[in-house]
Amino acid sequence: MNKYDLAGEVAIITGARRGIGKAIALRLARAGAKVVVADLDKEDCEKVVKEIEGIGGEGLALKLDVTNEEEIIDAVRKTKEKFGKIDILVNNAGIFIQEELDKMDTSKIDKILAVNLRGVILCTKHVLPEMKGNSYGKIINIASVAGLVGFELSSIYCATKGALVNMTRELALELSKYKINVNAVAPGVIETPMTKGLLGDEKTKAALLGKIPYGRVGKPEDIANAVAFLASDESGYITGHTLVVDGGWLTT
Ligand code: NAP
Repeated sequence: MNKYDLAGEVAIITGARRGIGKAIALRLARAGAKVVVADLDKEDCEKVVKEIEGIGGEGLALKLDVTNEEEIIDAVRKTKEKFGKIDILVNNAGIFIQEELDKMDTSKIDKILAVNLRGVILCTKHVLPEMKGNSYGKIINIASVAGLVGFELSSIYCATKGALVNMTRELALELSKYKINVNAVAPGVIETPMTKGLLGDEKTKAALLGKIPYGRVGKPEDIANAVAFLASDESGYITGHTLVVDGGWLTT
């Protein structure tokens, strides 16, 4: 069963060469969207596009560093050239660094802010003229439960994800008149290369599992399904919302 029809829609997904971003790219392609697979490593993006083509979809691989405004502008231009429009933006690219704040090198602080927050702001900024022009758009920010509660040793990561949650609310307010929905997804712990270190340590994994009533860590597809819903017409009256996808973690 393939819920949510995105036939004819065009989606840009940042950080899509692997992990959650790749699962989102494949999920939206399966729903019929044309997908721009954007990430730091273009060759990996091309491999994802090949997988999309393998399931009968259409994609475009782009090298996109979300900290580089010129590359963002270029990605918007290339997407319009190839597919004619942009309906969906999934701000997924993110980095996670755990360290005590006073021991953290300032360059690392700047990097987390640049990717997780400034990158989302600039991708959104440069896609908006296109969406406003079409009076249609779906923007989905990949936040985190760490944007809603504290997560050990990750103050700056938590700050960026919390900022996304509240920027999602404000942009929903600002953009409703253009029929642009802005929502966020807040994943719990999902098994991806990002969490390899955390989940590779048996003690840490057991402690994390202890927080998850569902009794398992999440899969990238759990997040991709939520994104497909928020990208679809079925969620048309939902905006400014953060959808928590965490196996029940935040209920405890
Ligand atoms: P991941 O496996 O590390 O994938 C993230 C992707 O983003 C990587 O391909 C990475 O490239 C790319 N990226 C990093 N910096 C970038 C930049 N400047 N411009 C463009 N792309 C960049 O992580 P993930 O687990 O799939 O996470 C995806 C999103 O979900 C992130 O925003 C993360 O914060 C969020 N999230 C994840 C979890 C989890 O448990 N996994 C939980 C909550 C929220 P490189 O590998 O080359 O750096």
